[in-house]
Amino acid sequence: MLAFYSFLPLSSPVPPLLMELQTHCKQGAVPFLVCATSGTTVLGAFDPLDEIAEVCERHGLWLHVDASWGGSALVSRKHRRLLHGIHRADSVAWNPHKMLMAGIQCSALLVKDKSDLLKKCYSAKATYLFQQDKFYDVSYDTGDKSIQCSRRPDAFKFWMTWKALGTSGLEERVNRAFALSRYLVDEIKKREGFKLLMEPEYTNVCFWYIPPSLREMEEGPEFWRKLSLVAPAIKEKMMKKGSLMLGYQPHRGKVNFFRQVVISPQVSREDMDFLLDEIDSLGRDM
Ligand SMILES: *Cc1c(COP(=O)(O)O)cnc(C)c1O
Repeated sequence: MLAFYSFLPLSSPVPPLLMELQTHCKQGAVPFLVCATSGTTVLGAFDPLDEIAEVCERHGLWLHVDASWGGSALVSRKHRRLLHGIHRADSVAWNPHKMLMAGIQCSALLVKDKSDLLKKCYSAKATYLFQQDKFYDVSYDTGDKSIQCSRRPDAFKFWMTWKALGTSGLEERVNRAFALSRYLVDEIKKREGFKLLMEPEYTNVCFWYIPPSLREMEEGPEFWRKLSLVAPAIKEKMMKKGSLMLGYQPHRGKVNFFRQVVISPQVSREDMDFLLDEIDSLGRDM
């Protein structure tokens, strides 16, 4: 039984987690794993890992952290507190191909276990592959530990990036991404017709563009129905014009909104200004 658990920011974490575990137990299931998220894909929200680890340790549950997106905040001394408690996790998934821009794909599954767990899980022990009686330490052979057999050397791409930029270069990238997203948030707050969904924890900036025809309208069902049509229409315009590519989605009862995720070190404040100017010019007559 899998207790998949990820909650909205600002909700109080532990009681819902315990309640959920109790519910599963009452139904006769045996929860054995809790999956927390560090950096959700849409909102960039972080679960409070220390509090979740507390529950997991007390109840003997495996704690997995999906830090695919948010894990890279760890290289920033300024922002790593978002993942405080991650050292208590049993396993962590992390994608250096996201914020750290390693060539896609480069995904890591880190496990605390030192008993060769991955080998025990995935080894096919094929006699025609990965011979054990070689002249060097075969524990470094990763071939028989991974889910796939033939695969690219993903870790090597990240190793190269790390060597080239250094730890401080990686940290700078992350800090810069945070700073640019804060700049974008400030600009959104200053501009008429733009509305932030929430203050971001990470570098996901989620916002609505409210065209002039909706600005005086009361925020009732009709307003939200009409607003839900705006982001797809502006996206169509930007794609046909060839000026921007910006994603949008509805999320947990919120109608279609734009999501600007800042990553690239080549992006500047001027690009952020352009983004908002362009959305405004494409949506002004709606
Ligand atoms: C991107 C992402 C994934 C999926 O990672 P892939 O390597 O693209 O499969 C999983 N979880 C979260 C939170 C993500 O943002």
